[in-house]
Amino acid sequence: MSRPVHTLPKAHLHLHFTGSMRFTTLMELAQEQRVRLPHALVEDWPPKLAARDERGWFRFQRLYDAARACVTSEEAMRRIVREAAEDDAAEGSRWLEIQVDPTSYAPHVGGLTPALEIVLDEARRVSVPGRIGVGVIVAASRTRHPLDARTLARLAARHAGDGPGDVLGFGLSNDERRGHTEEFEGAFRIARKAGLAIVPHGGELLGPEAVRATLEVRPDRIGHGVRSVEDPALVAEIVRRGITLEVCPGSNVGLGVYATPFEVPLRTLYEAGARIALGADDPLLFGSRLDDQYEIARSVHGFDDAELTDLARMSIEGSRAPAEVRSDALAGIDEWLAEPTDV
Ligand SMILES: [Zn+2]
Repeated sequence: MSRPVHTLPKAHLHLHFTGSMRFTTLMELAQEQRVRLPHALVEDWPPKLAARDERGWFRFQRLYDAARACVTSEEAMRRIVREAAEDDAAEGSRWLEIQVDPTSYAPHVGGLTPALEIVLDEARRVSVPGRIGVGVIVAASRTRHPLDARTLARLAARHAGDGPGDVLGFGLSNDERRGHTEEFEGAFRIARKAGLAIVPHGGELLGPEAVRATLEVRPDRIGHGVRSVEDPALVAEIVRRGITLEVCPGSNVGLGVYATPFEVPLRTLYEAGARIALGADDPLLFGSRLDDQYEIARSVHGFDDAELTDLARMSIEGSRAPAEVRSDALAGIDEWLAEPTDV
């Protein structure tokens, strides 16, 4: 008998706001808004995506946009944060860093600032000491102008902090094949100056050269980064710099980056000494949540319980959680492993 992963304390560092939504919540919001969701999203959930080519990504983006179009009120925004926190807590997550680009919600709530402040306020409200804390990563989109990213970075910087309901980091998301990471250096510079964690996506749809470009903005963590495995010297550099890779196996398979969970190079990166924080990315579209990633590590990649605690520890250490959350979680991880299993 092995220990249940949902009681293993951990941090969740890669979860997008809209993508975190419960399927049932999306259905309810769509009904309220009288939005007709794409067939692929409602009839056969989770949808088949395979986005490694442009057409596949377009399909993913279309479904994502359809889901986002249902989020048109402060109430809906608060509900997403609240449910993400509840779902994370139920999976043993002690600390969630939810990633949001407030741009799409801004028109519905009176602008960028209120859009972000609603998310921050709800994150603070749902955080319960000893149970779950929620901080926020502001993410700019690669598909928009780098000046837009700077605007977002300035907004993020004004709300920078190190506790629940604060902006903790600044990211860059969306189609990696568009907008080179270096072009966003201006935004990252603003974020760095404010003390925010630098957490761009990279090395998901593109290979090692894209990860090398990402290193130019001096990331603390990289969203995905899995394809750095194609260049061992690059992996060594990531290890040397102590960068945490936010590895999301369910997402990689959902998007066709790898054909099967076994092909996700989790074991290789772990053996190379890379710091790894497992994440769910977009449960709404991939149909798998945080604990499913730990289950994949266990059942597909043969991680034993001690190795699972390594993953959990690295997720806490790679987070921006306050000191007391970290020490509580780390102690809880040791207790989890010390607990005898029924034989
Ligand atoms: Zn992501």
